[in-house]
Amino acid sequence: MKKSIKQFLEKSRLLKTIKDQNQLMILNYHRLSDPNKKNIFDDGVFGPEGKRFELEMEWLKKETYIISEEELVDILYKKKKVDRVCSMVTFDDGYIDNYEIAYPILKKLSIPAIYFIPTKHIMERTLGWWDITAYLVKNTKLSSAHFRESDLDLSNKKKVISELIFELKQMEPSRIDGYLNELSLSLDVPIPSIDIQGKELMSWEQIKEVGQNGITIGSHTHEHVILSKQSLGDLRFQIKKSKDILEEKLRTTIRSIAYPVGGHDHFDVETKQVSQDLGFKLGFSFLTGVNHFERIDPFDVKRGTSQATWSNLDLALAFPTRIFQAVRNQ
Ligand SMILES: [Zn+2]
Repeated sequence: MKKSIKQFLEKSRLLKTIKDQNQLMILNYHRLSDPNKKNIFDDGVFGPEGKRFELEMEWLKKETYIISEEELVDILYKKKKVDRVCSMVTFDDGYIDNYEIAYPILKKLSIPAIYFIPTKHIMERTLGWWDITAYLVKNTKLSSAHFRESDLDLSNKKKVISELIFELKQMEPSRIDGYLNELSLSLDVPIPSIDIQGKELMSWEQIKEVGQNGITIGSHTHEHVILSKQSLGDLRFQIKKSKDILEEKLRTTIRSIAYPVGGHDHFDVETKQVSQDLGFKLGFSFLTGVNHFERIDPFDVKRGTSQATWSNLDLALAFPTRIFQAVRNQ
């Protein structure tokens, strides 16, 4: 940051004013990238490299009070008071880099975090449809293909992946497998084996280990479905099943859920009620902004991302709302 801006912020007491505002900013990540590893799946879920992540964590630790799940429960349910700007760190989807890259850094810096796990993916060692879609497009040797009603121009694979993912996000969950099988045939690439997919995910042993060393484990539903699109029966199933499996495997009470995709179109009043009825204390949304403690909804705890735009850490603290109002581009 330019020295003059920094001095201005300090002098103007802007930073202090913001710190007094009782805010909770939550940084959510999916994957951290490894510059030495070629990614054969979806690039869209990657955040920073480990080095940059460590810098962000050091900054967060210096400038904010990083709270754990337990402290947030105490603040919201037992009216525990906090007198400085708070932050949290969360990871969604259970990828292997959460264990290999993020966990050693969090442990070294003694930073609490929550890892949200979609249980079926961990049990069956399968990745989400976004990763399979990207894999099929990245691996095809064709320069164009006919798929359903359209022709895919495979000279721009990035564009094709983004268009297919956009279409899949609107799709009924029961139609997704058929769509991927058809895409696999059109692109002449087999669906990656369970072995290839499973390598990208944490094992139960790794999840247990992080769970015993400062990371809280939360639910991310059973099959990573968009909860607002489910019938009441399916909604209950998706949330309860994941909670039951995690509690049995980890021998602990699961109190937090992160709604898949997480925007305000992806969960609703019913989702929040069912989560509460099933014993959760906290429900987290995503790309929804910054929280103010005096008006926080325990079942719509807002999260943002450091991805791409967060080039200047001090400015991020000075203008958290702007930074966290990240735009969904898909
Ligand atoms: Zn997710």
